[in-house]
Amino acid sequence: MSRAFNFSAGPAMLPTAVIERAQAEMADWNGSGMSVMEMSHRGKEYMSIAAQAETDLRALMNIPDNYKVLFLQGGASQQFSAIPLNLMRGKSADYINTGMWSKKAIGEAKRFGDVRVAASTEDTNFTTVPAVDALNLDSNAAYVHYTPNETIGGVEFPYIPDTGNSPLIADMSSTILSRPIDVAKFGMIYAGAQKNIGPAGLTIVIIRDDLIGHAKDGTPITLDYKTPAENESMYNTPPTYSWYMAGLVFDWLRQNGGLEAMGQTNQRKAEKLYAAIDGSDFYANPVETSARSWMNVPFTLANADLDADFLAGAKNAGLLTLKGHRSVGGMRASIYNAMPEEGIDTLVSFMAEFERTKG
Ligand SMILES: *Cc1c(COP(=O)(O)O)cnc(C)c1O
Repeated sequence: MSRAFNFSAGPAMLPTAVIERAQAEMADWNGSGMSVMEMSHRGKEYMSIAAQAETDLRALMNIPDNYKVLFLQGGASQQFSAIPLNLMRGKSADYINTGMWSKKAIGEAKRFGDVRVAASTEDTNFTTVPAVDALNLDSNAAYVHYTPNETIGGVEFPYIPDTGNSPLIADMSSTILSRPIDVAKFGMIYAGAQKNIGPAGLTIVIIRDDLIGHAKDGTPITLDYKTPAENESMYNTPPTYSWYMAGLVFDWLRQNGGLEAMGQTNQRKAEKLYAAIDGSDFYANPVETSARSWMNVPFTLANADLDADFLAGAKNAGLLTLKGHRSVGGMRASIYNAMPEEGIDTLVSFMAEFERTKG
């Protein structure tokens, strides 16, 4: 088996140890004679898998007891609709606009109620986040929504906004589990799984109890948080295999020092890559230093005519999916938990060699 270093933004790399364990358990899970894919979600085998995944996630993130963990479908994008439907309660909501994903969340929320943009960095071409004192928050807002890590722009908040009595809602799709966080500072955290949790198909919502049960009339039953909250996320068939795979990732994280260790490694990985970019006149990253993402690192080459050459050479060196998002161009290295430090070292060496020979 040969495993490349895959820098895809999502679906992204999974830990090799997790893939191998899934492979070993594929045809016959734990002597059950069934693949996890073939199990009833209500059978005792699958119920134990599902419960263990939740237990491990709660332990990893230190999730307080007054929060529910929901295992859903529809991606983070479906939450863009579910959030206003469940949480607006006839009031207006504040949104912080820091890039493509916040914009999408804002666009969808506007379909359901009043949206105030409490701060925007669009005038910087989304190369930073608002300063703490630039957040123009409405003290009566139903909630405040933000995107702690913008996957496309590679921009990340170095602080957690203080939103007073308004619950803070965070789209953590590309940063969840990358380091310890204080869940109690949030009303709700949500994430599509395919970046830093597991395979696509699963969406995780961590929500404070008091925010459940206020959905607007007419909210589809599967989008009302009360439905999964009262049915252990099994009102309808959940994405069973993705949930199982997420559980294997949680177990792997726990065995590897949890989020504290992961955070230290992730910081080191990101610093190495930014140092390589900043130390060269050939590579550049446009993001303000204090707002640089640990997870998604866009960079450009001094001469865009060399992009195709760079990508082909990288592929030959076992470095995959470095092409930047179509809206930004250049390159993007997504370096989530499953990207080994060796992958960064290999990329940095490749970049230096490319610059030396072609730059
Ligand atoms: C990928 C991503 C999304 C979209 O996720 P889907 O699961 O494809 O809907 C939303 N927000 C952020 C920050 C993302 O990185």
